[in-house]
Amino acid sequence: MKYLIANWKMNSVDLDVWEREFINFVSSQNNFPNSDELKLIVCLNLYDYYFFSEKIKSSKNAIFNNISLFAQDVSQHDEGAFTGQISSKFLRKAGVEGSIIGHSELRDNGDTENIVFEKGLKLNEQALSNIFCIGEGLEILENNKKKSFLLNQLQTFCKNNVSPDLLAYEPIWAIGTGKEADSENIASAVSVILDFFEEKKIDCPILYGGSVSKSNIEEIISIPGIDGCLVGNSSLDGEQFAIIASKIKS
Ligand code: PEP
Repeated sequence: MKYLIANWKMNSVDLDVWEREFINFVSSQNNFPNSDELKLIVCLNLYDYYFFSEKIKSSKNAIFNNISLFAQDVSQHDEGAFTGQISSKFLRKAGVEGSIIGHSELRDNGDTENIVFEKGLKLNEQALSNIFCIGEGLEILENNKKKSFLLNQLQTFCKNNVSPDLLAYEPIWAIGTGKEADSENIASAVSVILDFFEEKKIDCPILYGGSVSKSNIEEIISIPGIDGCLVGNSSLDGEQFAIIASKIKS
């Protein structure tokens, strides 16, 4: 099974246009991967959740019909005076299947390794899945500290029954910059992650994220150990996202 995740962030996406363009492209293909081969997830703004989930449920297109919806963040708190935050209990009530946690844009806003762990714990308590993001900044890469940095992120997260359901390796310098990481860089991160998973007996797909597009998806998905991708900018357009999906084969 391969995975393709759209992270729409706080961008405006015209849901009718996205659906139409996605379905138009999918319908024009003979060999579009089916839902046993490729799991499609959209992490959307929760204000759009009801409208988009109704579209998905009522769609006659089997591929569109199988898209799963996730949130982009969850609070580490259960409830109380936390203006603007959303708890895992509310996420479950809303109907999403899980949430991204540890995205670098949230880490930049103060999410420490420990807060990301607590968010994982809260998702667990509501039986929701996590998409756990890790990745080094440029300074860490240049100072050859990538391995110890990634290991620290993994070790802080994987305890007390918390572990990633999907792990996205997203080097911060590749996110939204148009400069994807090269194969060697991705492969070295995959090897650190796989060794850690083997030692801890964790079975979890590894995804890459950072400037994925229709032009580089085939190269990225062919890297051994990569089970899919998390896509920001190129997921905002339904056709682009469908083209990327069409190039992923199990
Ligand atoms: C992201 O938002 O996690 C991301 C990878 O964005 P982009 O594809 O735009 O680099």
